[in-house]
Amino acid sequence: MKLEIISGIVLGFFVFLFYLGYDITPLIILGILGLIFYLMLQKKGLVKTNNFQEVSSTNKFHFESIGGQDIAKQELKEALEFLIKSEEISLRGIRPLKGILLTGPPGTGKTLLAKAAANYSDAVFLSTSGSEFIEMYAGVGAQRVRKIFQSAREKARKNNKNRAIIFIDEIDVLGAQRGSHASHMEYDQTLNQFLVEMDGLNSNSDVNILVIGATNRPDLLDPALLRPGRFDRQVKVDVPTLDGRLEILKLHTKNKKLAGEVDLLEIAKETYGFSGAHLENVANEAAILAMRDKSPEIKQVHLKEAVDKVILGEKLGDKANPKVLNRVAIHEAGHALISELVKPNSVSQVTVTSRGNALGYVRQSQEEDQKLYTEQELRNQIKVCLAGAIAEEIHLGDKSTGAGNDFKQAVKIAKTIINSGLSSLGVISIEDLPPIKVNQVVKDIIKDEEIVVKNLMIDNIAVLKEIVNLLKEKEKISGEVIRKIINEKAA
Ligand code: ATP
Repeated sequence: MKLEIISGIVLGFFVFLFYLGYDITPLIILGILGLIFYLMLQKKGLVKTNNFQEVSSTNKFHFESIGGQDIAKQELKEALEFLIKSEEISLRGIRPLKGILLTGPPGTGKTLLAKAAANYSDAVFLSTSGSEFIEMYAGVGAQRVRKIFQSAREKARKNNKNRAIIFIDEIDVLGAQRGSHASHMEYDQTLNQFLVEMDGLNSNSDVNILVIGATNRPDLLDPALLRPGRFDRQVKVDVPTLDGRLEILKLHTKNKKLAGEVDLLEIAKETYGFSGAHLENVANEAAILAMRDKSPEIKQVHLKEAVDKVILGEKLGDKANPKVLNRVAIHEAGHALISELVKPNSVSQVTVTSRGNALGYVRQSQEEDQKLYTEQELRNQIKVCLAGAIAEEIHLGDKSTGAGNDFKQAVKIAKTIINSGLSSLGVISIEDLPPIKVNQVVKDIIKDEEIVVKNLMIDNIAVLKEIVNLLKEKEKISGEVIRKIINEKAA
């Protein structure tokens, strides 16, 4: 970028001189020579060599400041013992651990773990990203790989340390399978150099280097990287569990003023599937909302609103017209009613406020993280998906496009039922079935659930009407209110 700006200024200057009547031919020749010289330096990797960042102050990153991820922390600490007790390891004839690969979805704390690892093992920490090694000029990537390993050794010596950690984020860019890139010569050369450097790491050197790689796509990595002796350990850094989410929320609200009524466990229950980065964002947005409200403390409503904002985006200012509002209220009331009937206590809040692409939504809460589902539980989820459109049909006589995503979700769940061998087809391989057959079974499953939902809704029509009226009046109602109405009026 800098080069473009400088070139622009120089060109402007030449045009200016030309305009004043000067002969600028010698300057143009000089400029061209300068550019050729620069490109040659760049090709040799002598320009932009400091493309990685030494993070000298990892002091504030401790394993304690990372919420959840207990297994990942444990595995990483264990691996770090190899670095810390390198002499003992070498005396025992144990091969040193050269690389640890952190894999998992974005924002789950992989970078934090690497920083905490550097702090824990009192090592020099160099951080870079796979994309920093990639240039269009052949040989530059390999040069940069050599440079980072060399730099790690030099910096450790300078700081009187005998350990260094090199953290490479997005290692899939550098370590993708050889031959998979269009300009594969340069990519392959870079990866080959990286493999050579990793092979050269040994415990007899005065500086022990550990490479920590992070990726969301371990499937793209070249198998040579993953073989023993290179990235010996793979540590999975997954989205946090309920306890993990609670811990992360506590960590990120520690420096904020919370009202006494705040229940972080409730928020953790409503944030299933959120990563650490999402949860940090919830805490931050809640603080912003409290400031907007001129409230000295963050209240539970701020946190709940922040969750909605993180899921669906900012509230849209324009209000829906009464006809649309009526349909949205009926649709959302349908989802909420059926959700409570098939799974009591599952609704946390229903809203008819437009946010992002959604005109309204039901936020569900989960007592505990669920990884296994029975057929009935999956069928109940289909019922909840279908309920919005069925409520519209019962109340207004027709359905709308608002149910498109609900139907997609219902089909997806029906396919999960078939794939898991829970449908009338028994245990099958869905790929080997003709699509028409799969489609028929999906239709049957959805039809069955449609009938159940219709009957449930007709039996509880008074409850539905009451929820619709309240929603139109208040825009937002809580799960408790819905449960109260059901208890009073349910069939
Ligand atoms: P990516 O794969 O996108 O590079 P990452 O897994 O490396 O993401 P980090 O950069 O470590 O994610 O985390 C981003 C931010 O999210 C952190 O700065 C922190 O605020 C928050 N965060 C993520 N995970 C945790 C966690 N387990 N505990 C506390 N905070 C977390």
